Amino acid sequence: MVGSCFLGPITPCRSLSPAAGLCTADILGPEETLMDSTTATAELGWTVHPPSGWEEVSGYDENMNTIRTYQVCNVFESSQNNWLRTKYIRRRGAHRIHVEMKFSVRDCSSIPNVPGSCKETFNLYYYESDFDSATKTFPNWMENPWMKVDTIAADESFSQVDLGGRVMKINTEVRSFGPVSKNGFYLAFQDYGGCMSLIAVRVFYRKCPRVIQNGAVFQETLSGAESTSLVAARGTCITNAEEVDVPIKLYCNGDGEWLVPIGRCMCRAGYESVENGTVCRGCPSGTFKASQGDEGCIHCPINSRTTSEGATNCVCRNGYYRADADPVDMPCTTIPSAPQAVISSVNETSLMLEWTPPRDSGGREDLVYNIICKSCGAGRGACTRCGDNVQFAPRQLGLTEPRIYISDLLAHTQYTFEIQAVNGVTDQSPFSPQFASVNITTNQAAPSAVSIMHQVSRTVDSITLSWSQPDQPNGVILDYELQYYEKDLSELNSTTVKSPTNTVTVQNLKAGTIYVFQVRARTVAGYGRYSGKMYFQTMTEAEYQTSVQEKLPLIIGSSAAGLVFLIAVVIIIIVCNRRGFERADSEYTDKLQHYTSGHMTPGMKIYIDPFTYEDPNEAVREFAKEIDISCVKIEQVIGAGEFGEVCSGHLKLPGKREIFVAIKTLKSGYTEKQRRDFLSEASIMGQFDHPNVIHLEGVVTKSSPVMIITEFMENGSLDSFLRQNDGQFTVIQLVGMLRGIAAGMKYLADMNYVHRDLAARNILVNSNLVCKVSDFGLSRFLEDDTSDPTYTSALGGKIPIRWTAPEAIQYRKFTSASDVWSYGIVMWEVMSYGERPYWDMTNQDVINAIEQDYRLPPPMDCPNALHQLMLDCWQKDRNHRPKFGQIVNTLDKMIRNPNSLKAMAPLSSGINLPLLDRTIPDYTSFNTVDEWLDAIKMSQYKESFASAGFTTFDIVSQMSVEDILRVGVTLAGHQKKILNSIQVMRAQMNQIQSVEV
Ligand code: AMP
Repeated sequence: MVGSCFLGPITPCRSLSPAAGLCTADILGPEETLMDSTTATAELGWTVHPPSGWEEVSGYDENMNTIRTYQVCNVFESSQNNWLRTKYIRRRGAHRIHVEMKFSVRDCSSIPNVPGSCKETFNLYYYESDFDSATKTFPNWMENPWMKVDTIAADESFSQVDLGGRVMKINTEVRSFGPVSKNGFYLAFQDYGGCMSLIAVRVFYRKCPRVIQNGAVFQETLSGAESTSLVAARGTCITNAEEVDVPIKLYCNGDGEWLVPIGRCMCRAGYESVENGTVCRGCPSGTFKASQGDEGCIHCPINSRTTSEGATNCVCRNGYYRADADPVDMPCTTIPSAPQAVISSVNETSLMLEWTPPRDSGGREDLVYNIICKSCGAGRGACTRCGDNVQFAPRQLGLTEPRIYISDLLAHTQYTFEIQAVNGVTDQSPFSPQFASVNITTNQAAPSAVSIMHQVSRTVDSITLSWSQPDQPNGVILDYELQYYEKDLSELNSTTVKSPTNTVTVQNLKAGTIYVFQVRARTVAGYGRYSGKMYFQTMTEAEYQTSVQEKLPLIIGSSAAGLVFLIAVVIIIIVCNRRGFERADSEYTDKLQHYTSGHMTPGMKIYIDPFTYEDPNEAVREFAKEIDISCVKIEQVIGAGEFGEVCSGHLKLPGKREIFVAIKTLKSGYTEKQRRDFLSEASIMGQFDHPNVIHLEGVVTKSSPVMIITEFMENGSLDSFLRQNDGQFTVIQLVGMLRGIAAGMKYLADMNYVHRDLAARNILVNSNLVCKVSDFGLSRFLEDDTSDPTYTSALGGKIPIRWTAPEAIQYRKFTSASDVWSYGIVMWEVMSYGERPYWDMTNQDVINAIEQDYRLPPPMDCPNALHQLMLDCWQKDRNHRPKFGQIVNTLDKMIRNPNSLKAMAPLSSGINLPLLDRTIPDYTSFNTVDEWLDAIKMSQYKESFASAGFTTFDIVSQMSVEDILRVGVTLAGHQKKILNSIQVMRAQMNQIQSVEV
């Protein structure tokens, strides 16, 4: 297969030499000549054998230049064997040798009387040797030791030779051989009875030239030993190109051709390929290229420019921005102008706003509107944000249409609405969104409807009911009107009673009869709407007798005080319709206990404390589904609860698929009180239905042991889960967990449920990293439980000090706002992967530190925005803490805009860092020690600091207690303030240094 151009040559052969099958020289690699007979200026002096054979003569080439040639023409003599041997030819690294011969041969038939032995061919041989070792007799003049290359025949022989030079027909033949490995070789030409002239012999080898191919440079490479052999050459990317596929290779074949390109380099971002792919040139100014590749630089999109050559992107001009998801070739855009032409129409306490879109959308198509609602108290000037009660339809933020319906405003109140136009780059602009504002005053309006009514108690002939005030009283409530009638009679027979308060006892009812009740509130603006219809039933005589008998032993056995308590117990029986719960054994059947009111929304449901039930077992029946023990398969003990073991297992309810569950058991030998306390958790949990609150499957109370069955949370409690996976999550994953907890807490707060023990240990995590609020048991707060040091005895019960808001510790003011404080601690636990809040400080130290405005510093690698949110949760004044709804929104924003989580909090916590004194300003914001002393309100010591030489922050940060005394600070309070401030300064310095390192 000599010279075949297989495997896809880079430069395909256009023509083949007919004789040798070689790619013709014009497209082959460069030739490097080892010997050329035509350049000889004197005699060639090659060796001939025998002397009567070849003969050196002067001749002319086709251009009539004088050259030295060899000829032989012994056709009339028999048995010719004439050898002509070149001088020693050095190999010079070549592996394959090419020989080009120019010669002419006389046609035998043109010679008169020529014998039959006349030949028209000759043989070409070579002999390898490491040095010039040939003599007249060595190597032998015969085929072996010589290596035969080929028998060479003429294409054209000539009949009339005229060595005078006028008619010359010259053949050119090329042959190659290899591999050659010794330092050099000889060639020999064997004539065996022809008439010929060897006009020129040129010996050369081929190499593949240096090329730039596929973005890489390949250095000159010698071809291989066989014409089919391939020599691999590694390429290196040209400047400003980078590898795309590796390795980058070309193969040099025996003919000096580059073949089989492998891998490639491409110009990197900011550079484009020019000059036939041999140069990567930096994008000229005003153009850019965003990624590596073959494409050229493109012009900067509108409103952007480059700052230098070789740009990978174009930066937006001042006032223009690019949203995170905007492609780099999209024009930079800006914030929209304000909405226009707002039209408002007020209807009592609701309002319709419509407007036309902004004149300038900023060049974007993601324009939406946000509505800011401010209510402006009469005459006081200052406006405040509207409360949560105001309703916005379709929603308050992210409106796509230029209209909104706002309801549930306060009557007779002045409001300002700002309609902000925002788009995808509003967040990036330092300016607030442009808005149009409109002032309106609502009209007088009647109160809204009462949404919920409870039965407090009942007898055979009376029912006591109570209800909550309407969400929108729209003025001072003068009284309520309750309308009721027997369910089986017409509404026309209804009776009304008035009540100045939100509770009333309806007398003179029939025993065992269902009544329908509705209530409405009245203000100066008149009556509001009636609530939905609610059904309550008086006791039957039989029920009354049983209830009296059940209470009797208790009453007899209890103290006088207990008796008073029992009589005073208010039984609140909620009548809410509990979706999905069977209450077969409750006397309050579905029929009785549901609202028909069309305007009840799930958000209005409130939590009922099971201990307000006269019989807490009734609460269990009301809120927890009884499960038959045969449906439960206990498999493994997974932990220890307060009342007994916690196990995992499977639950298979009839008609449902089997699910994995956690099973809390009540250990045997329990008292009735323990049973009640244990089951109270189920009565509480059973009232909740939210993806971030642990879900109750049901209870087993009719067999032993008593069990509470909940969904199974594969990763157990959050604190230990985080400790086991220290540093394993991204900030976004952690924020996602926190978001879930906040959403669960918002749901609980909306239901008026105060958790009191929100902590990472009471959050459970499932296999999808979903966090759910759990642990609704109340008993650990009770005084007599001394087993767990987390809960410290305080006046009126036990309190988990580190997680609890100061007002809850001091005067047991537990509210959703104190839960928000605990949530801040949970955030800190999460961001520090389960570190113990306040480390090893004692509870008393924690209480003192909080009182003195110290707060936990940001955990390591905690984004500033998250620490700020923690600090908000730890506001001393509980009214200043965010609501859970706001926390969810804030976390959602962070998740949507992860850039907001890039800035790290300035202080990184190490175990030994002091708490942050929130009253101490950051020393780096001052230029001088004097300014700093002003800021910490210690200006009176400026002179003494200066005269004692404490003039730089470096020196001040080294001050000891003695130094502080020496500069004349004698008051203990001042000493403490200065020492604390210095401590914070040192911590900040350490932080700065560690960042610099
Ligand atoms: P508790 O009595 O609720 O504090 O539960 C004790 C321990 O049992 C917890 O710390 C968890 O490790 C485990 N546990 C409780 N409930 C579940 C559940 N639903 N899924 C998985 N493990 C649970």
